[in-house]
Amino acid sequence: MAKAKRKISHSQALMQRCLPFNHEGEYFDLQAIFDKINSQYFWLKPLRGYKITWGRRRKLAPKEYFVFGTIQEEDRLIRIHPRLDAPFVPTWFLEYVVYHEMLHARVPDEYSEDGRRRVHTEEFGRREKQFLHYTRARRWEDENLARFLR
Ligand SMILES: [Zn+2]
Repeated sequence: MAKAKRKISHSQALMQRCLPFNHEGEYFDLQAIFDKINSQYFWLKPLRGYKITWGRRRKLAPKEYFVFGTIQEEDRLIRIHPRLDAPFVPTWFLEYVVYHEMLHARVPDEYSEDGRRRVHTEEFGRREKQFLHYTRARRWEDENLARFLR
């Protein structure tokens, strides 16, 4: 009996490691943050059918720049960098990162005359500033960026 039990928990642990999507981190649950932001900022037209997940952990931190989050519109998938799942990261900063990615789902890209795509449009910037802790979050990003880089 005990043996079988151990076997089951082992395969569960294995499965968890192999699961491509995981919203539950050690410190933050991304799904809870997504739901909160969705009802707080997108209640007029909530995002539906989106998945949010921590990205895969890499051994080395990036050297030059740091991508806090991405959104893949085709798959309705938001990925947040796993280094943000840390005790020194304020909840309102993680919320800002999630809000930023969610906003991409609501503010269309624009194309300039030479056909170049702009994702951070004026409209995007205007709506991004509606985030309650926008100024504080941008300042925190500037002041703490080095902690995410090598
Ligand atoms: Zn962006």
